[in-house]
Amino acid sequence: MRAYNFSAGPSALPLEVLQEAQRDFLDFAGTGMSVTEISHRSKAFEEIVNEGEALLRELMGIPDDYAVLFVQGGASTQFAAVPLNLMHRGRADYVVTGNFSKKAWQEGKLYGDAACVASSEDRTYTYIPDVRSIPFRADTDYVHICTNNTIFGTRYVEFPKTQAPLVADMSSEILSREVDVKSFGVIYAGAQKNLAPAGVTIVIARRDLIQNPLPMCPTMLRWKVQDENNSLYNTPPCFSIYMATLVLRRLKKLGGVKEMNAVNEYKAELLYDFIDNSPFYTNRVEKKYRSIMNVPFVTPSAELDAAFVKEAAACGLVSLKGHRLVGGMRASIYNAMPVEGVRALIAFMQKFERENA
Ligand SMILES: *Cc1c(COP(=O)(O)O)cnc(C)c1O
Repeated sequence: MRAYNFSAGPSALPLEVLQEAQRDFLDFAGTGMSVTEISHRSKAFEEIVNEGEALLRELMGIPDDYAVLFVQGGASTQFAAVPLNLMHRGRADYVVTGNFSKKAWQEGKLYGDAACVASSEDRTYTYIPDVRSIPFRADTDYVHICTNNTIFGTRYVEFPKTQAPLVADMSSEILSREVDVKSFGVIYAGAQKNLAPAGVTIVIARRDLIQNPLPMCPTMLRWKVQDENNSLYNTPPCFSIYMATLVLRRLKKLGGVKEMNAVNEYKAELLYDFIDNSPFYTNRVEKKYRSIMNVPFVTPSAELDAAFVKEAAACGLVSLKGHRLVGGMRASIYNAMPVEGVRALIAFMQKFERENA
């Protein structure tokens, strides 16, 4: 039996996609070879990259003047690629709303004057600073934010309007809700949360911003080079790109991001409503900023939390242990988590509460 997998990443993929990949694994597109065996320069593979890019453009409404790239190294490598491609004046502002945005800021500081202009660390990242009152500096190269905070379970409900291009890490929510790509200079996302197996990272970048990477920028991190080479500058993570394309096909079939967002809102509402109506479980995030992807919660004690995680796993509800920085539990309910998975979790939570309250 398949488990309901609440892992924050790598995370669950749609069963139909896994089955399709399994069915076609030994003979990809009539080549007589596996997609893991064919040349990345072959026509069959190039078609997969092109289809993936076209689907992403269609589903997210990405304008033609933006590059869409499939790169490697995870979102963490993009923490360096952002300053290396954009920091011409040597100044950038960062909003720190969790562990990953803090890491991005620290990486930025290796290359120039990267300032943390707002942070929610004072209340252990349980909210997002008011985007209308952040003291952004003048003459910066970009402003960096992380739109959904995977570990702490918060998300922006509106994005700051900035003079400098807005750069967003959307790793744990890409394609979960509609965003206006035009209001961002760069969007990037590791695929292993909401899109594909680990190995591929999506970069969406306005082309006029990426023409002059810093001289020290490694060739592989130059978005311009990746763009000019259709993401095939070197051997790309072929299997992950193939899987991403299958996931994107499915998303289109299901009605696109708007439809997916409605389902995601529904799943999150079920879970938060249950938590809010229970005297036993608590979610510490300010309601307005609650993530619809990552839902952290606790029972009245660390001992009960540990028992919860263990007993849930025995019932096929796995990877519910919270991040070590937060403790407790975390249910990641990305696009691939069906409503039934959330209902099964709530049923287990009810049972556990009855037995332990
Ligand atoms: C997981 C995650 C990362 C790190 O991604 P890697 O691919 O492991 O480098 C960065 N940012 C956010 C928001 C994440 O959720």
